[in-house]
Amino acid sequence: MLYNQIQEAKGNIRVFCRCRPLRKDEISAGNATIIDFEAAKDGELGILTGGSTKKIFRFDRVYTPKDDQVDVFADASPMVASVLDGFNVCIFAFGQTGTGKTFTMEGSEQDRGVNYRTLEQLFKIAQERKETFTYSISVSVLEVYNEQIRDLLASAPTSKKLEIRQASEGVHHVPGIVKATVENIKEVWSVLQTGSNARAIGSNNVNEHSSRSHCILCIMVRAKNLMNGECTKSNLWLVDLAGSERLAKTDVQGERLKEAQNINRSLSALGDVISALASKSSHIPYRNSKLTHLLQDSLGGDSKTLMFVQISPLEQDLGETLSSLNFATRVR
Ligand code: ADP
Ligand code: MG
Repeated sequence: MLYNQIQEAKGNIRVFCRCRPLRKDEISAGNATIIDFEAAKDGELGILTGGSTKKIFRFDRVYTPKDDQVDVFADASPMVASVLDGFNVCIFAFGQTGTGKTFTMEGSEQDRGVNYRTLEQLFKIAQERKETFTYSISVSVLEVYNEQIRDLLASAPTSKKLEIRQASEGVHHVPGIVKATVENIKEVWSVLQTGSNARAIGSNNVNEHSSRSHCILCIMVRAKNLMNGECTKSNLWLVDLAGSERLAKTDVQGERLKEAQNINRSLSALGDVISALASKSSHIPYRNSKLTHLLQDSLGGDSKTLMFVQISPLEQDLGETLSSLNFATRVR
């Protein structure tokens, strides 16, 4: 596939930046965007940091608030499709709460996001290739909260701790998790619904809970080449990360403090792993968080990584926006 040749030349890590639009109420309250998209087509983003100063950031893609779910998926789709050629792929949405991570990954029923579009495309390609390959596709939906893995497809909530085990070199797995085999896109939608409904269980505020946990969709593909009998297994991880915002010291105590520390730890562990991979370091610190440990086999080697860094257009979010953009620059 041509895309893989392009990837080889450029490395396997991509960073796309997406800014959410201003809401009507924000516009009527007199807010204007502090983001300059003049050179967005060239992957350049300007942040108006006050006065006449502008800070420039560069990414593989920069989306303006006018770009929709179709535009975004068009750029992600070659990478996603490569899972059918045996590559492991990770896609992350990173950023402050309220910047559109869930919108990009899950979307809504009218405006479906990367997760649904990915599966739709995988079924379509599998169908096109049915003379030469048979594919079997299954999915797991997991959550990592406070450094603990929860299976969102488990039929009964269990108190049994889920742990990551290494079966053999390069093969990590979580014994006991549900892997739902899916045959078509209709089945997928109901599985995704089951997963997102399960997130609500045991939390009194779903939005708050989801901003503090990582939500993970893992798509497992088994391929059999009918020409030569060769079989491959590959994974595609789609991760809606916990909100990256730093909390005001005053409102962090007890349980909240523990949550905040775990979020910081796992996001910085993820940043450390991706930047170690980008700089071709010999030691990649996968073991520093549950998330990087879980995704270990799909981060590095010939795996492909895509990060959406999501930002807010508002001046009041400038500090968080700069911190997200700096994080994303570090992993590039
Ligand atoms: P996060 O998951 O990062 O906390 P959400 O995805 O929940 O953020 O987005 C916050 C709000 O902004 C939601 O109401 C969402 O529908 C809206 N939103 C985010 N990005 C976009 C976009 N590109 N276009 C339209 N609405 C968006
Ligand atoms: Mg969200």
